[in-house]
Amino acid sequence: MRQCLIAVLLVVAAPSPQPATEPIVRIGLTQNAATVTIRSESAFSVEHRSTRAATFTTVLALDPAATGPLKKADLQYRVSVDVDGETILVLPAGAHIRIEPSGAPLEIETRAYRGAIEVSGNTRRTLTVVNELPLEEYLRGVVPNELSPTTFGQIEALKAQAVAARTYIERNLGQFRDEGYDICASDACQVYFGVRTEDPLSTQAAAETRGIVATYDGKPINALYSSTCGGRTEDAENIFREKIPYLVSTSCEYKHPAPLPFSTSRSIADWKTGVLAVARVTTFADAARFMGLPDRGEPASTTDLAALAGFVRQTFYPSVVTASDLSFLNDQGILPVTGPAAASDVLFRLVDRKGAFEWQQGVLTSSDGTKMRLLVNGQPKEFTLAPDALIYQRIGDERLPMTAGSWIGGELIDFRAESGTIGMLVYRINFANPAADRYSRLAIWQIHKTAAELDAAFKPLAIGDFTDMRIVQRGPSERAVETEVVGSRSRRTVPALRLRTLLGLRDSLFSYDIERNARGTVLGMTFYGRGWGHGVGMCQVGAYGMALDGATYEEILKKYYKGIELKKLY
Ligand SMILES: [Zn+2]
Repeated sequence: MRQCLIAVLLVVAAPSPQPATEPIVRIGLTQNAATVTIRSESAFSVEHRSTRAATFTTVLALDPAATGPLKKADLQYRVSVDVDGETILVLPAGAHIRIEPSGAPLEIETRAYRGAIEVSGNTRRTLTVVNELPLEEYLRGVVPNELSPTTFGQIEALKAQAVAARTYIERNLGQFRDEGYDICASDACQVYFGVRTEDPLSTQAAAETRGIVATYDGKPINALYSSTCGGRTEDAENIFREKIPYLVSTSCEYKHPAPLPFSTSRSIADWKTGVLAVARVTTFADAARFMGLPDRGEPASTTDLAALAGFVRQTFYPSVVTASDLSFLNDQGILPVTGPAAASDVLFRLVDRKGAFEWQQGVLTSSDGTKMRLLVNGQPKEFTLAPDALIYQRIGDERLPMTAGSWIGGELIDFRAESGTIGMLVYRINFANPAADRYSRLAIWQIHKTAAELDAAFKPLAIGDFTDMRIVQRGPSERAVETEVVGSRSRRTVPALRLRTLLGLRDSLFSYDIERNARGTVLGMTFYGRGWGHGVGMCQVGAYGMALDGATYEEILKKYYKGIELKKLY
């Protein structure tokens, strides 16, 4: 009883810094529509007329006050409203027409919205459409679009996302006040697609965190998040040039995953010999058969490069017409410019061509040592690992033969499978090892750019033809913070976001190989990357991984936003 009394006194005595009510938010659905049709399953009212559909258009109309001969100034942009095919109103461009819901959501094209819709003409002579509704109802249409409850269906991760989204809107309320709303509905703000995208799980996540925001120094934080950090998040200042105390690099790690052991009965030290063994190629005739080409026997010589070039070109590139077979094969990287050509090297290069050996690539999701599940082009596929499969671990350009070891999931694997059985694989050690975001198909990626694509990408830098690249500074997450790009005319140092945009990369977290022909000319570049997004703040797939391993939403938020406090506003 006494305790109750003290509690009551404290509540009365404490001044309330925030009104303890849920805010109403105004979301800008569009600000550039030429025409907008609003429908609903239940009748609604437009300027006292009941209807189930109303179409708004901007029109050039005559000023009703105009007198005398028609002048240009007498024509004004106005908003016309059609109800049931009949124009009922022509309003001044600045007028706001407000439609209250009447039971069923209001629909615009394929989307439907809770709350009221306001349409008004703007100074650009187009229509601005605003959806006004309570904040928590808005969040129901945001959370599932920012983190998919179908793909990442873990309630604690969705709750963390709900708090991040609520914090974002609390902090940015009124950002677009001049346009007549609080915040936009696209990924420039946070994605809001309305009631049809709601999902019971993300709705539950919003309800269970009602009113809760993340704060630092008592104020809502800038709750940045990105899809997949690739193992470690980055300091805000390295990407956005602004130091923010709670947006600092953290390892995307929660619990160590269980190892997935593997073993094999066969090992061939040199992986190139391994490729030829799996392809059953020891002679040029074998190689031709392997590629489905006519068997033309063996070359007369492998020491006379010109003669060897003639044989290889005619056998393996029968339809290519070239002035110099040797020059052509130099360009293809099949034969060296000078010096002896070992037959096995030439055979390997012929067979290893992606089309011939049929390498596939996937991300390991699970393995019991025999059955392996891999995400191939984003689709889960099951394979059997042959008991005598050749297994190599790739470190830089080295490929180490392995007879036993273990994976943890998330490894990027190049493999060759016949009828669902893997006979050879090369895996990159998952050095983002126990990262909570290793489940993302985006955690590891690889992209190739041709020399022409590189020149086009770097054109805005005006450096001439691309010749080289060097990473000057990496952040704590290994993101390329400053990169020097070298061209035939000049060189430029480029910050992370700019480089990412120029090259169209998913993330700034990458290493690369520059491919050159025997003469040193750049043929292309391969980027080996991790992550998707800017890498600052909460890692969304990491949040999912943490939730899978038992973390609460508060643990998730406090992991990615350093030193924050959760606060219930209403
Ligand atoms: Zn992560």
